Amino acid sequence: MPRKRQKENCGFCGRTLDSGDIVFHGSRDIICEECVSGMFHQISGESSQDPPQASGTGPQIRLPVPSEIYRTLDDYCVGQDRAKKFLSVAVYNHYKRLLDRRDNPEAEPLEKSNVLILGPTGSGKTLLASVLARSLDVPFALTDATTLTEAGYVGEDVENIVLRLLQNADNNVERAQMGIIYVDEIDKIGRKSMDNASITRDVSGEGVQQALLKIIEGTVCNVPPQGGRKHPQQEYLRIDTSDILFICGGSFIGLEQIVHRRLGRGNLGFGSVANREQGSLHGVVPEDLVQFGFIPEFVGRLSSLAVLDPLDEDQLVRVLSSVRNSLVSQYTRLLAMDGVELEFAPEALRGLARQALRSGTGARALRGLLETLMLDLMFDIPERKDIGRVRLTLPFVEGSSDPELYLKSGQLAA
Ligand code: ADP
Repeated sequence: MPRKRQKENCGFCGRTLDSGDIVFHGSRDIICEECVSGMFHQISGESSQDPPQASGTGPQIRLPVPSEIYRTLDDYCVGQDRAKKFLSVAVYNHYKRLLDRRDNPEAEPLEKSNVLILGPTGSGKTLLASVLARSLDVPFALTDATTLTEAGYVGEDVENIVLRLLQNADNNVERAQMGIIYVDEIDKIGRKSMDNASITRDVSGEGVQQALLKIIEGTVCNVPPQGGRKHPQQEYLRIDTSDILFICGGSFIGLEQIVHRRLGRGNLGFGSVANREQGSLHGVVPEDLVQFGFIPEFVGRLSSLAVLDPLDEDQLVRVLSSVRNSLVSQYTRLLAMDGVELEFAPEALRGLARQALRSGTGARALRGLLETLMLDLMFDIPERKDIGRVRLTLPFVEGSSDPELYLKSGQLAA
């Protein structure tokens, strides 16, 4: 147990200890707090070479370097290499800024830069945001911009996002203040959004942009501790959103045309081969987002733009089978619990990937497709004690045959 004591020397570094120093007692010597904490860091694998950490007050963050963040993203997310690199750097810089503010409160603050991810449905926007939070071990909350519009009471709703983050931080205000919030479907609150038929109460979407802008820029929100409705006598927790990293994502249908139109005024014509081949949002600049319907102040706050590409067939196969915690590995584990080995024929995985492509919702379609496909098996297998292996083939995926069931002896079941 640490205790305070009279003048003595640390048995480890030899430093003379003052009566106020905290020391640890061994069987013969006492050891100062600095040595113990040094040993702790050495044992836990941290060293003075490690990336920046906060020395001030507040919760500690072990900030991984961009390449380490990238590797974690790569474990979970197929493709999107440039975006993964870009996000690793953007997030690293965000947390460096946060640590700098803590360590050098007097210094000119580094400017906060939030992130906008543009990419089609099911390309990994939400996945990347959540894995980023996991790789940094910070709390994460997810919200959908369209729900902010529908409720009408904009201010209150926007604060609810912060409330969700606080809950995910186990009501620890300091941890919540360094968390990540992902706002999905941000394109739907664009003023001139193409498909804003659902936005009836706030015809422009601009009101929501203004409300979101406030918390993205940094404000103090009053959040009821246990959630629920606010009432006058209640004590609120005050959450400062200045250091919260906001990642907004959307598919931005219609933005591509805006980019092409702008480029059409320059050297690259609308129908040029280069444009058609690129066929994506990679050339987006902030003015295009303003043209799309965002107020310039809002665009200014989302200055880091990452663009995701639609996943192709090969990539969807990898989503199914190769990433960490893939759907195939999850089903394999589930069936292993019933003592049954699960095997997907490679063509079966391709067949599923092709079906997902046809659905137009990218990797998002895969889970539903597999769930439907596996339902009967998941229902029947637990009582089939004779079965040792199941093999899923392309005809099975296409609905023209049953899965191949093998007995424990290895023989194909009748
Ligand atoms: P988005 O937010 O772009 O619409 P999500 O990130 O919600 O898409 O992805 C939907 C599902 O598909 C999730 O289960 C996710 O794990 C998976 N997924 C999407 N894109 C990828 C990817 N690039 N790599 C691995 N899995 C992916």
